[in-house]
Amino acid sequence: MSLKVLKFGGSSLADANHFRQVAEIVKSDPTRHYVVASAPGKRQGNDTKVTDLLYKCYALAANEEDVTKVFDEIKQRYNDIINDLGIDLDLTPKFDRIREALLHNTGRDYIASRGEYLNAMILAKYLGFQFIDAKKVIFFNEDGSFNSEKTNEVLREALSEHEYAVIPGFYGSMPNGTIKTFSRGGSDVTGSIVARAASATLYENWTDVSGFMMADPRIIDNPKPIKTITYKELRELSYMGATVLHEDAIFPVRYSKIPINIRNTNRPEDKGTFIVPESDDMSDYIITGIAGRTGFSSVTIEKAMMNTELGLGRKVLQVLEDNGISFEHFPSGIDTMTVIVSTKSLSEKRADVLAGICKNVNPENVFVEENMALLAVVGRGMVKAKGTAARIFTSLARANVNIRMIDQGSSELNIIIGVDANDYITALNAIYNEFVK
Ligand code: ADP
Ligand code: ASP
Ligand code: MG
Repeated sequence: MSLKVLKFGGSSLADANHFRQVAEIVKSDPTRHYVVASAPGKRQGNDTKVTDLLYKCYALAANEEDVTKVFDEIKQRYNDIINDLGIDLDLTPKFDRIREALLHNTGRDYIASRGEYLNAMILAKYLGFQFIDAKKVIFFNEDGSFNSEKTNEVLREALSEHEYAVIPGFYGSMPNGTIKTFSRGGSDVTGSIVARAASATLYENWTDVSGFMMADPRIIDNPKPIKTITYKELRELSYMGATVLHEDAIFPVRYSKIPINIRNTNRPEDKGTFIVPESDDMSDYIITGIAGRTGFSSVTIEKAMMNTELGLGRKVLQVLEDNGISFEHFPSGIDTMTVIVSTKSLSEKRADVLAGICKNVNPENVFVEENMALLAVVGRGMVKAKGTAARIFTSLARANVNIRMIDQGSSELNIIIGVDANDYITALNAIYNEFVK
C-alpha cells in the first residue's frame, strides 16, 4: 500500500500562490498523507526568509533593541498568506506569545522554530488536515543529539491517530520541554523522520528545482539533472555543499530503505531525482555529480622519515582533538603530512594547534595555508571506469588550475580535490565540462 510523506521547503510556501500550488499537489494524490512544512522562504531574489527575520528579532531583543519593525514584517508575511487564501485563522494570540518570549529572551531556537510552527498551522487549516506540533513528537537527548527511539515510538502512535496531518519541520523538544532546532535546512531531516515513523513508501521532498543537478545551478548554467542517486553518493555531495537536501536527511530513512524523490513545486510534471539505497542503474555519465565548498585550510607538517615513526599521525590528530577541531582529510607522504580543516574552526585555535604539534611531534617545519576550496567528484560509476582521475587532472591543467591536494575515498565513490579558493569556479566548470558536455 502506497503512503507518501511530503516536505515543502521555504520557497514552496513563501506566499499564498505557492500555498495553492502545494494544496493542488497534496490533494491530487490521496496517498499523500503527511506533510512537513518549512517557514516561508524568499518570494524573490532579494527577499528575506522568515527564519532569518526571527533570528534577527532574537538578536535585537538580546541587545535590548526594539524589535517592532522586524516583528511587524514577520506578522505581515503570515497575515498576507491568511488573507489572500481567505482562511479563518487569527494568529494574534500566537504573535503576542512570541513577542512576549522575545522580551524575556526565551531561547533562540524557540524563536527560530516559530517560523515553521505558524506556517504549518496555516497549511493544516488550508488543507483541512490535523496539525501535529513537532514539540510533542520529535525529541532530543540531554546532550542535544536526536533521540530516534523515543521519537519513532511517539510519532508513530500520533500519526496512526490521524489519516492526514501537517507537521512543522526544523524543531523538536529537549527532555525538559524546551524547544531545540536541527541545524539550518533541518526541515528535510524532519521529513525523513516522519517518513520513517509512518513507514512511508516514498518521501517526496518538494523544492524550487527539478531535482538534484550534476552541479550547483547557481554556478553552472543549466546543469544536467540526476535521475537516480544512491544514499551514499548523496551524502558526499550534500556534505560538500550541494544544499538541496540536508546532509543528515538520509539517516532516518536509511533504516527502512525508503526512497526520496526531490521534486519541483513550480513544475510538478517533472519527475525529479530519486535517491535510493543502492542502484545498479548507471547514469549516462561516469560521474554522478560535483559539489564543492570554500573555507578550508591545510596544516602541513614536514619531518624526514615520518612514515617510519610510529604513532605520529595519532599525535597530530590528538592535538586537533584537544582543541575541538575535526579534520576533513588527512593526505600524507613519506616526509610530509597534511591535515585539512575548516578555516573557521582553526582560526581561534591556530596558535595552540601549531604549538601543540611542535611539542607533540617535533617537526622540522609546520605551516598553515588558508583560502582553499575542496571539490568532490562523486560517482558510483567511477570504480569501473579507468582514467577518471587523469581526466580530472588534465581538465584542471588545461584550465590553468593548480591542484593543492588530492584524496580518493577508499570506496572509489569520490575524488576530493583541493584548489585555491580563487580557482574554485574555474575548476568546477572545467571538471563539469570534461565529463558532462
Ligand atoms: P528548500 O527551501 O526547498 O529547502 P533549498 O534552498 O534548501 O530549498 O535547496 C534548493 C536549492 O539548492 C536550489 O534552489 C539550488 O540553488 C541549490 N543547489 C545547490 N546545489 C544544487 C544541485 N546540485 N542541484 C540542485 N540544486 C542545488
Ligand atoms: N527554516 C529553516 C531554515 O531556514 C529550516 C528549513 O528551511 O529547512 O534553515
Ligand atoms: Mg532546504
